[in-house]
Amino acid sequence: MDAAASLPWGLYVHIPFCPYKCDYCDFVAVGGGRRVALWHGPYVAAVRAEGEYWVGRLRPEPPVSAFYGGGTPTVLPADDLASLHRALAARFRLPPEGEVTIECNPGTVRHAGLAVLRRAGINRLSIGLQAVQDRLLTALGRRHTFAAFREAFTAAREAGFGNLNVDLMYGLPQQSCADFEESVCRVLELRPEHLSVYALQIEEGTPFHLRASHGTLALPSDEVAAEQFDCACRLCAQAGLEHYEISNFAAPDRRCRHNLLYWENADYLGLGIGAHSHWRLQRWANTVRLAAYRDGIAAGAGTWIAEHQPADAARERSETAFLGLRLLEGVDLRAYAARHGQTLDAAFPGIPARLVEQGLCRRTDDRLALRPDAVLVGNLAFSAFV
Ligand code: SF4
Repeated sequence: MDAAASLPWGLYVHIPFCPYKCDYCDFVAVGGGRRVALWHGPYVAAVRAEGEYWVGRLRPEPPVSAFYGGGTPTVLPADDLASLHRALAARFRLPPEGEVTIECNPGTVRHAGLAVLRRAGINRLSIGLQAVQDRLLTALGRRHTFAAFREAFTAAREAGFGNLNVDLMYGLPQQSCADFEESVCRVLELRPEHLSVYALQIEEGTPFHLRASHGTLALPSDEVAAEQFDCACRLCAQAGLEHYEISNFAAPDRRCRHNLLYWENADYLGLGIGAHSHWRLQRWANTVRLAAYRDGIAAGAGTWIAEHQPADAARERSETAFLGLRLLEGVDLRAYAARHGQTLDAAFPGIPARLVEQGLCRRTDDRLALRPDAVLVGNLAFSAFV
């Protein structure tokens, strides 16, 4: 049994261009102005065509959210982004109250362009800051400054964005606890509605991975990183931001609706290279190659899909459990049983009780959740459901 067909869903659009590539980044993102200039027109046209394809094929109900992620979507001209969004919003019948987020980086947005995006119906801006110390930004291979971030934040407010997220990172090379505390404090002073706090991950194939393998990347210890994370939790609580997901804090009613869909194991449809989709129990991922994507869209019939996984009820039971545990309120056990036709205890005999015994989770009548002091070792609990 599955009730996925009645779940809300979200539209994701991947814009894979950045002005440059950061030293830690393994996202599907093409750095460099010339390639962006060459590709952006054909790419936007291909994304629109992919949207048309799925509207015709899936005949979906309207989504509850749309999310333009990257990459750095705002390296594209604002007029092009606005017309892409208007076209997709009309074809997918996005309701006016739907949450529509676009990611940006400081230095890629100005007031005029932001006003164009806002008028097109984009109502949430997520700004990648990472740290307030320019020396740490340089060490990450980022080419913006904290001053540029403040300009972007102010411009966004002036352009009418009442829902702003800021991304910060901890566990960075040369980042002390005091540095991180300063980053959180300086950002919270600006009163964003949402803050995301991510641990640096060293990903294979990145310059950081090479340096780490040569022993030349001065990373803080796990203890320092844990102290930094605790600091974010404490300061966000003082500022009235609720810690609702491992890495995410929100003002009342400002949780990210779109990202909640992922943690709820709901449906999403991804457009663009590298985009993933989860639709009526099936999963697929698009090619990560620009030319293959463009040519596949031109040829039609889904030839841009690089990987397809058929429906798998066991995988869905697993994903609903471990993704739900990322939320601090945990897995809703009644909703779980209604959705999957069996309780979490029946699907994973003995596992919930063991996690409680081990001190990783707490249980009430209707929820299984990570204990607050186990959030940083959540992987130990998630892996029990895989
Ligand atoms: S701005 Fe973001 S997506 Fe682009 S290279 Fe840097 S980390 Fe990657």
